[in-house]
Amino acid sequence: MSDEQAAPVPSRYSEARQEFEVDVVVIGGGQAGLATAFYLRRAGLVPGRELVIVDAADRPGGSWPRMWHGLRLFSPAGFSSLPGWMMPPWDDATRGFPPRDHVVEYLTRYEEKYDLHVLRPHRVESVRRADEDPGGRLLVTADGLALSARAVVSATGTWDRPFWPAYPGMRTFAGRQLHASDYRQPEEFAGQRVVVVGGGNSAAQILAEVSTVAQATWVTTRPPRFLPDDVDGRVLFTTARARIEALEQGREHAGVAGLGDIVMVASVKHARDRGVLRANPMFTRLTAGGIAWADGTTLACDAVIWCTGFRPALGHLRALGLRTRDGHIPVGGPSGTRSVGEPRLHLVGYGDWTGPASATLSGVGPSARATAAELTSR
Ligand code: FAD
Repeated sequence: MSDEQAAPVPSRYSEARQEFEVDVVVIGGGQAGLATAFYLRRAGLVPGRELVIVDAADRPGGSWPRMWHGLRLFSPAGFSSLPGWMMPPWDDATRGFPPRDHVVEYLTRYEEKYDLHVLRPHRVESVRRADEDPGGRLLVTADGLALSARAVVSATGTWDRPFWPAYPGMRTFAGRQLHASDYRQPEEFAGQRVVVVGGGNSAAQILAEVSTVAQATWVTTRPPRFLPDDVDGRVLFTTARARIEALEQGREHAGVAGLGDIVMVASVKHARDRGVLRANPMFTRLTAGGIAWADGTTLACDAVIWCTGFRPALGHLRALGLRTRDGHIPVGGPSGTRSVGEPRLHLVGYGDWTGPASATLSGVGPSARATAAELTSR
């Protein structure tokens, strides 16, 4: 495809804002958006003309470039691939799983390989109905960009909406508080007393590396569950596939067991060997100088790292009035990703509610394929 062919065709043009009429807009150029675009392209839509992908970030890779530097995948490269092209093997003498940068490189090359022409950086501010016609168009507005589309795929992930629980004293605490999404590397905590909050993989991995340079304390709301050493993300994906097959055959399936359980990646195993993986019950409040439990016990600390998860980043869809109390948008249809309240909208990659294991690299493929099939069959 030449550059000339790939450039979107403006229906109208103003200096302040480029305005395009297209078939499908995909919001989000992370793995979920790319996987969906892969199948839409394979169905014949031309990226950059009929299919436009818009991303808020200034570089490829979805949220992966913003994750902490030492992050490792919880499964090998061969189990971390998007449709069409396998993630290249990670050649590591320690036989560890691929690091964050390997994923960024893979996603960067993936969008080049399939000429997906992601428009960035443009943060989508709103998606609205052009008029009352249920078969009419959706208007997608981003900074510097206005798009009119037959259908919209939202694939904005969860990284942009870190979840902070509310505890008394959070405003009183004089030390540093940060969410896992703002954590970068352990060195900035060298010599400090650090409390790591959360019972999932992020908390375990951050605790593992912070504890190499700081005095780290782990607190969790329930006892953490560790997967056996020989179980990793591969098991989660196998379970997810079994669930898809069961549902297709009309059978019941319990779902992706253990998705929140802690995978014993190398750094977490080392932390266990050092005796670091001891979880304390959750504190009840923060004080000016630390944390306090219900029984009056206190602990002084310099920093609290909240590894308390994420919520779907759906603020750009507010004007459509689709969100329910749990913060989700009901989905269904053959793809399982089509908004019940707005059939021109699909949601891909947010978690099990938009497809089993769809918030993982290898798990998003089936949801993406079904979404593209439903969109192109209309
Ligand atoms: P993202 O990667 O977050 O991409 C969303 C894109 O949408 C971003 O580029 C963002 O800029 C853009 N965007 C957001 N809002 C807007 C907007 N309004 N307008 C335009 N663009 C917007 N999965 C695995 O398979 N293996 C693992 O080992 C693994 N480890 C993980 C470790 C951590 C700490 C986390 C948080 C997740 C991990 N995951 C893992 C899960 C999953 O693979 C990632 O969360 C992945 O980033 C989700 O991809 P996505 O495309 O849905 O979202």
